Amino acid sequence: MRTRFAPSPTGLLHIGHARAALEAFNYAKKLKGHCLLRIEDTDHTRCKPENTQAIFADLDWLGFDWPLPVRIQSQHYADYAKVVLTLIERGLAYPCELTRSDIKSGQTPKPANFDKVRVMNIVSEASYHVAPSLPFAIRLDLSKAFDSLDNDDLLFEELGPLYKGIHDVREKLGSKIDSIIARKDISCSYMIAGPHDDAKQGITHVVRGADLFEETPMQVLIQSLMDWPRPLYYHHDLVRNEAGEKLAKRNLDTTLQSLRQAGQTSDDIWTMAL
Ligand code: GLU
Repeated sequence: MRTRFAPSPTGLLHIGHARAALEAFNYAKKLKGHCLLRIEDTDHTRCKPENTQAIFADLDWLGFDWPLPVRIQSQHYADYAKVVLTLIERGLAYPCELTRSDIKSGQTPKPANFDKVRVMNIVSEASYHVAPSLPFAIRLDLSKAFDSLDNDDLLFEELGPLYKGIHDVREKLGSKIDSIIARKDISCSYMIAGPHDDAKQGITHVVRGADLFEETPMQVLIQSLMDWPRPLYYHHDLVRNEAGEKLAKRNLDTTLQSLRQAGQTSDDIWTMAL
């Protein structure tokens, strides 16, 4: 059994991350497995190396240990590009120039007028840059993707109490517009990098916050299209304040660093996080 804690260093860790780390590390302990630490920093427009260093320090302060080396996603853009290239090659993904506001105003995504070989060269070349970007986004053609799979490939199992049961990807994504698998500004996406690394790292159980449940169908679809093993999922409840509202990252006084500086101990953090 193997799971992971996979924070994005867009800011400092807060109390919600402490909860997520605790859930993942405890789950591994209970099943006598391992919990890896993975840094999900492909969004170079928002992630900062000093936040990655702060993540190591905060987790260490909380008393966690993790196997080395830690996978740092920004060092592996070429791996994610290979997945995108495979899907373009198979005719399941295409370049799209429409902006978010074009889509909002009702336009349906359609392939931009680019030669396939040229698109593949652009995607491949971009992935060797430190901060890659593309002249277009790459979208997955959902109906072609569904047609290329068997029904069983479109099911995933949720073990957590909030959404327990078998879920059908097609039911959840069927009415959605073609999804972006490579963002224009970073040349890849969380939809590709996460499942790719879960497969590469042999993750058997994905334990993470309930706010990520909605991302699961798309990630399962990518796993099935790529013929990767499919992990089991466990989405845990989020830390809430007394009013029952989800704690937001921008709520600065919940960062572990500020709580530590204010004299709180790691035991105090557990009381707040659970
Ligand atoms: N990097 C994601 C986040 O910090 C978590 C990804 C995951 O656990 O799959 O929200």
